[in-house]
Amino acid sequence: MKHRDVIVIGAGLAGLSAAAHLARQGQKVLVVEHHAVPGGFAHEFKRRGFRFEVALHALDGAGPGGWLYGMLQELGVADRLTMQRLDPLYTLRLPDFEVTAHADINDYRSELVELFPGEAGGIRSFLDSVVQVGRDISAYARDRAGGDRPDPGRMLERYPAMSIAFTQSWADFLAAHVTDDQLKAALSALWGYFGLPPSRMSAGLFAAALSSYHINGGYYPIGGSMALSRTLEAVIVENGGRVVYRNTVTGLDVVDGRISAVTTHRGNRYEGDVFISTAGPLDTIGFAGEEHFDDAFVAAMSSDQPALSNLVVYLGVKGDLAAEGWSHHEFFVDDGYDLEAGYRSVVDGDFARAGMVITNYTESDPGCAPDGHSSLVLMTLAPWDHADVWGTGGNLDGYSEHPGYLAVKEAAGEVLIRRASALIPGLADRIVVKEIATPLTNVRYGRQPFGSIYGREQTVENMFSNRRSPRTPIPNLFLAGAWIGGGGMSTAMGSGRTAAALAARAVDR
Ligand SMILES: Cc1cc2nc3c(=O)[nH]c(=O)nc-3n(C[C@H](O)[C@H](O)[C@H](O)COP(=O)(O)OP(=O)(O)OC[C@H]3O[C@@H](n4cnc5c(N)ncnc54)[C@H](O)[C@@H]3O)c2cc1C
Repeated sequence: MKHRDVIVIGAGLAGLSAAAHLARQGQKVLVVEHHAVPGGFAHEFKRRGFRFEVALHALDGAGPGGWLYGMLQELGVADRLTMQRLDPLYTLRLPDFEVTAHADINDYRSELVELFPGEAGGIRSFLDSVVQVGRDISAYARDRAGGDRPDPGRMLERYPAMSIAFTQSWADFLAAHVTDDQLKAALSALWGYFGLPPSRMSAGLFAAALSSYHINGGYYPIGGSMALSRTLEAVIVENGGRVVYRNTVTGLDVVDGRISAVTTHRGNRYEGDVFISTAGPLDTIGFAGEEHFDDAFVAAMSSDQPALSNLVVYLGVKGDLAAEGWSHHEFFVDDGYDLEAGYRSVVDGDFARAGMVITNYTESDPGCAPDGHSSLVLMTLAPWDHADVWGTGGNLDGYSEHPGYLAVKEAAGEVLIRRASALIPGLADRIVVKEIATPLTNVRYGRQPFGSIYGREQTVENMFSNRRSPRTPIPNLFLAGAWIGGGGMSTAMGSGRTAAALAARAVDR
């Protein structure tokens, strides 16, 4: 393939989705990827018979009628993936009680009412509002897809729940319905999916996700997120496209104000008509050179604060934990009810206090561990700059062998293992494989600036019409991915689809 209509930088879900949509439309597509495998965060690695999911806990919108499902149908692959509905969605352990978040919203409501009978009315109105936000978002998306672009002045009238929620923090949304701090903490179990405390987190975003999880369901694909990534890669290849791996884009050639080619660290050069970058926006600006973008664009992108990163411990464990009674796909543990303090624990790198989630993939993804073993993942959010950038002082050259890094990483991982061992008896003595990932790992394998999980912070101010545009000042360069469309795997797929539509129009021009 000499001439490419569209070149996509990055084979994460945003890049794969963009390329798959374009390839299906007959465009000649090339994807250039830094890593050796597709998926970005949506991938797996293997150690001694164990298969470890790098990131995915729960997909939203993946069931029939859901928005991810719709995109997979559009790409003709909905029936090539088997999605397991998670029920319960998760279990939450707080100091005084446990919540089982049943997939069915009525069961979930009943459990909450049983735990907090004095707040029964508030729980009902809270869940009704959450559902209504989801309905408004669906109606808004449907209207837009049908060519009905609502006048900004009429948004509140047409989509009231959505319009209000997107101007509110999660703390304000909760306070409008319930008063008990323990209940508020229970209703905020998934705050780690967004990476901000209730006072700063967008209520619209949180309510949209809760509504999607409790109405459409939370899912995990058989074969993990890698199955999704490989399926998208197959769509690209089956439709004449190509993905090149182990090529890190280092440059974008600019001729007469347009991008003409990408160059990679191996010295490869690929020419094309239109370009989509899913790399960090500042990286993308750097590939071309800041002088090719106007000051306002550069200033806007430079002002974006990265969302938090993660500390993840991947464990291969002797024994079938599910058979022994630990059958939770997701088990959240929070040691207190003050989530603002919980967020500060994360930012301070106090992993003994930070909220943690334990995921046992063995039931939801059969075959991910050898017989009689389990594939367990412990995760907490984590800051980039913990212990002077994880003991490296900020120098990432050969960091993975740096004694300072190894010491900080091991110590942090041990804290999570100790905490999990208090819940799963004998865990520490049954570990046969252990890998620890830090924010620096996310840079090494996925080039995510500051190891950010969700792109830029998902604050109230950054939402909705204040999301970054996929357009850039260069007419044949578009952006996609978490920094543009928001964090999450389904969202990344949506962002890729949007960029693909813009790129297709630019090719036709
Ligand atoms: C631990 C963890 C848990 C998570 N849990 C969930 C969850 O349960 N549910 C959910 O929906 N989301 C979850 N997420 C978030 C979700 O994974 C991401 O928001 C989403 O996958 C981002 O997709 P992306 O395509 O924008 O970026 P990425 O997945 O980061 O992909 C970007 C790709 O671009 C490539 N790239 C970057 N720069 C270059 C370059 N210069 N040259 C070539 N290639 C380049 C990278 O190598 C990478 O493959 C989680 C993330 C993490 C880390």
